[in-house]
Amino acid sequence: MEIAIIGAGAAGLAAAAALTKTHNVMVFEQSKDLGGLWQAQVDFKNTALYPSLRTNLPAALMAFLDFPFDPQLIPPELGDYPGPKAVADYLKAFSEEKCLQPLIKFDHKVTSVTRHSSGWLIKFNAHTPLTADAIVVCNGHYTTPNLPLIAGLEHLANPPRHAKHYVEPGDFAGQRVVVWGSNASGIDLVREISPQARAVFWCGHSDERSAFVSDLENVSICADLEAVTSDGIVLRDKQLLTGIDEVLFCTGYQYDFPFLDSEIIKTEAHRVQGLYQQILAIQQPNLAFIGLPYLVVPFPLFQIQSQWLAKVFSGDVDLSRMPKRQKTPRETSQRPPERSELDRGFHRLGDQQIGYLTNLIDEANLTDLPVNFIQMLKAAQRIKQRNPCHYRDIRLDLQDPAGPPLA
Ligand SMILES: Cc1cc2nc3c(=O)[nH]c(=O)nc-3n(C[C@H](O)[C@H](O)[C@H](O)COP(=O)(O)OP(=O)(O)OC[C@H]3O[C@@H](n4cnc5c(N)ncnc54)[C@H](O)[C@@H]3O)c2cc1C
Repeated sequence: MEIAIIGAGAAGLAAAAALTKTHNVMVFEQSKDLGGLWQAQVDFKNTALYPSLRTNLPAALMAFLDFPFDPQLIPPELGDYPGPKAVADYLKAFSEEKCLQPLIKFDHKVTSVTRHSSGWLIKFNAHTPLTADAIVVCNGHYTTPNLPLIAGLEHLANPPRHAKHYVEPGDFAGQRVVVWGSNASGIDLVREISPQARAVFWCGHSDERSAFVSDLENVSICADLEAVTSDGIVLRDKQLLTGIDEVLFCTGYQYDFPFLDSEIIKTEAHRVQGLYQQILAIQQPNLAFIGLPYLVVPFPLFQIQSQWLAKVFSGDVDLSRMPKRQKTPRETSQRPPERSELDRGFHRLGDQQIGYLTNLIDEANLTDLPVNFIQMLKAAQRIKQRNPCHYRDIRLDLQDPAGPPLA
């Protein structure tokens, strides 16, 4: 098959490495470099990363399963948890090892993908359109901020910012800051900002937040935001926060495929609808998505998804378990509210990720996950559970067998 991959981030590189073994692959990347999110940034102003960021997984787990992370890439003071440059360098080394560079067309922004006989027509911002038999979408999902609708935002002293635009803690020096969101970026940015801010009000609904800030005196754990009024910020529990200088939304990102018509793929309640195994479009099984799941170990997951897909495209996977059709929009919109709630966390795998990967491996008869991958995951989880505030400063230890249970 002639396969077009959209995006040369970690997911696009994993897809190219797996698919090029059995198919003709072209990768279209809108920027001038590979690595996606991790590309070395000049000013970090318009990216979800920031200069002081360290990965939240140790390098040994970040790495693709067949290409270890060279420790030389990581400055010694960062231990097992590298910054963006080391990860960008790692992805460059991976693409060299797998000879992927010649497959990538840089400066090729895909603007539309439409059906064309049995395949697809791809249009670009400034290049001649091309056709392909199959499309693999690897455009990432940390680009379009999710901004919750809250009444009265105009009353804020400054317009709210999103984590995507966070650069450095100095921007919050001496201020009273509301941070909204309990996931990874909420945890990291509360810890980043608190040493410089006068007070941080950490809004959200996770009960586990206090463990991450037990050593920070100026952080208060608060309920979710409900509205902003001329008196201040009203929280769900009716507490009123006054004198707030800045509000930082750590409320995640939306799945966004601006080059695909919603007739082709639909995102509803934070779930990309109509996919088999969170990868293959049921209605048009020559369209696929790598990297949608989150709360996972991303690079190995991209790799296994891509290997599964390569086998599917070669006709080597029995797809008899794949539903025959996608639900119509009418059926989907009439789903009861609890169904939409389930959809909301649909791509969030967490403890289910090993089961998900094992299922892909079994279905496509792929090589099993290395035993030490699961051991490392347990060890990293154990370190994080025991040291939620400073886990990045602790070296990974595979000798302690008592890790937390995995589902
Ligand atoms: C703040 C933050 C911290 C994170 N920390 C970690 C971590 O510690 N460890 C970890 O493993 N993961 C982490 N992640 C997850 C991260 O998303 C993955 O590691 C990985 O980089 C995602 O790769 P991707 O290829 O899916 O997306 P991206 O890296 O976003 O790559 C997508 C690529 O597609 C290109 N593209 C997009 N649209 C088009 C178009 N229309 N035409 C052509 N090209 C296009 C983009 O230019 C980009 O190069 C973090 C994410 C965030 C936001």
